[in-house]
Amino acid sequence: MNYHNYYPVDIVNGPGTRCTLFVSGCEHQCRGCYNQSTWRLDSGHPFTQEMEDQIIRDLNDNRIKRRGLSLSGGDPLHPANVADVLRLVQRVREECPGKDIWLWSGYVLDELTEAQRKVIELVDVMVDGKYVHEQRDPSLVWRGSENQVIHYFKSDDVEC
Ligand code: SF4
Repeated sequence: MNYHNYYPVDIVNGPGTRCTLFVSGCEHQCRGCYNQSTWRLDSGHPFTQEMEDQIIRDLNDNRIKRRGLSLSGGDPLHPANVADVLRLVQRVREECPGKDIWLWSGYVLDELTEAQRKVIELVDVMVDGKYVHEQRDPSLVWRGSENQVIHYFKSDDVEC
């Protein structure tokens, strides 16, 4: 897997202070996509073991308390990304107790493959669906267009 950007301290992509990873690779080609430079799987930088370890360290670094990890892109559930993203979310679950995981994907929850579902079983919140330019609404929080749905799987404190 490649990634485009990693923000160790982020207050924009999800609730609270977070670590945010934008992966490379997206096959949805939404009109009006804000992040077309992430579409190619080989764009960005290789997601190395060091990078994975860094994210775990940052989440557990209490000098700047992070609420959790945000995964966006590109698409973290692109078939070519699923194995690496699964390993990362498994490590967050095992090594970062108390941290939540938010994931944005252009795939729709009901249509996920088995491999994609394994990732979603470990996240707290999924924002699903393509960005549909005709349904865009700048007043929406955590999503760009009305068709997208915020699925809260584990969080008690719904924020939208
Ligand atoms: S799913 Fe997101 S990254 Fe992919 S084309 Fe649509 S808006 Fe762009």
